[in-house]
Amino acid sequence: MTSLEGLDVRIGLEVHCQLTSLKTKLFCRCPADYRGKPPNTHVCPICLGLPGTLPTVNRRAVEAALKVALALNCKLPSRVVFYRKNYFYPDLPKNFQISQYDYPVGVDGEVYLEVEGEARRVRVRRVHLEEDPGRLVYKGGITESPFTLVDYNRAGVALIEVVTEPDLRAPREARLFLQKLRSILEHLAVFDGSLEGAMRCDANISVAGGARIEVKNISSFKEVERALSFELMRQRNLLKIGRRVERETRCWDEVRKVTVSLRVKEEEEDYRYFPEPNLVPIDLTAELIDAVKREIPELPDARKARLVKQYGIGEDEAAVLVTSKALADLFEEASARCRDPDLLAKLVVHGLLGALNYHGLDLRESKITPAHVAELASMVEGGVVTEKTAKYLLRELVVTGEAPSQVVATRGLERVADRAVLEEAVERVVDEEREDVKAALKDERVIHHLVGHVLKLTKMKADPKLVYEALKARLEALKAEGLEGAGG
Ligand code: ZN
Ligand code: MN
Repeated sequence: MTSLEGLDVRIGLEVHCQLTSLKTKLFCRCPADYRGKPPNTHVCPICLGLPGTLPTVNRRAVEAALKVALALNCKLPSRVVFYRKNYFYPDLPKNFQISQYDYPVGVDGEVYLEVEGEARRVRVRRVHLEEDPGRLVYKGGITESPFTLVDYNRAGVALIEVVTEPDLRAPREARLFLQKLRSILEHLAVFDGSLEGAMRCDANISVAGGARIEVKNISSFKEVERALSFELMRQRNLLKIGRRVERETRCWDEVRKVTVSLRVKEEEEDYRYFPEPNLVPIDLTAELIDAVKREIPELPDARKARLVKQYGIGEDEAAVLVTSKALADLFEEASARCRDPDLLAKLVVHGLLGALNYHGLDLRESKITPAHVAELASMVEGGVVTEKTAKYLLRELVVTGEAPSQVVATRGLERVADRAVLEEAVERVVDEEREDVKAALKDERVIHHLVGHVLKLTKMKADPKLVYEALKARLEALKAEGLEGAGG
């Protein structure tokens, strides 16, 4: 991204998150878990928008939305009012979406991100509660499908929409924001980010000198950075050749990894908002707000500070751990069985996460348990296996779920610390790598290169520290013998 540096970039996000902890939809009793269900089976006259039906508010949805607003440091209104947002689209059976306009569940909030070691404040303009539309299903991509199918199982599922001010300055920050939001929602126990399509994002992005471009249809925080990076590049190139960036709505094509123009916007769409006459406003009494406040658990920022204090782990490791509730939970559970939390934290952050990424797995999809991670950390701590072996093993353990001690025993992966064995390996390397030895005698840093050779020879099982010591001693001896030109 270096070529984009120096540009004044403004990014704002509109994020829709399903309140996946809810059993039923926002205004009817239909089950909210639509995933993998036969199309149009979790529906009723209310969520199909049939004439004469009346919505009833899911109380738990309002409570969950208030929790989110409070966790994002929003100001709460005196009452919550639902509005009709009118637009015509096949995913919307009533031809309006019940949403919020004035009196949303929260306004003027803030979230702090850590950007290159500094705190970045991102203002949250509003948080509101609304119903999810149905799901449109295309054959192939949206652009080539000869037809559109509609599944109303998702229609009426409770969503919160979080709208930020354009305070993000780079595509990477957009990703960090979504990650943070996801972690906050997971700590609140209202949201499971591992469910496909549970978090969807629209972004607006502008570069100094150009108009604001909206990018719709970004399905995950993994895609948001890609979509925005593409868009930044496209806008920059337009400006470079002297063209203008016109106000426009574009769509992220996840398959081709490009943004495509949807419509050139002349003015703000008119949704003709008006209060939903079938729902009475909900007064937010002090009692209700207090009750919701009491249910707010420790959130990621506070948890990070506690992890550092309680376990004595590094700030950097703690920051990574709290990006996912599941990961922080795993660390805390494992640390109860482990004598060295610092080593454990490093193993989780630098080993386990890498292993999960390698397989493209979410922690909850993997077979690793806190007990096994603790066991592995203890084996490193006790010198039974090297850190390298532990990291290598994690790649297997996340998919097999086997006990580390068992695998190490059956495969003979114990750390090699036997002096005789190490010295033999060192001797062989000194013998074979003459050029490196010569260099190492002049430049100590080359010793690490030789350590690598010894480790390779012992299939990574040798203790790197002991190898280093043995090598250093051997080289000192060579020097003392005055054999600097050894083998010359
Ligand atoms: Zn229904
Ligand atoms: Mn919305």
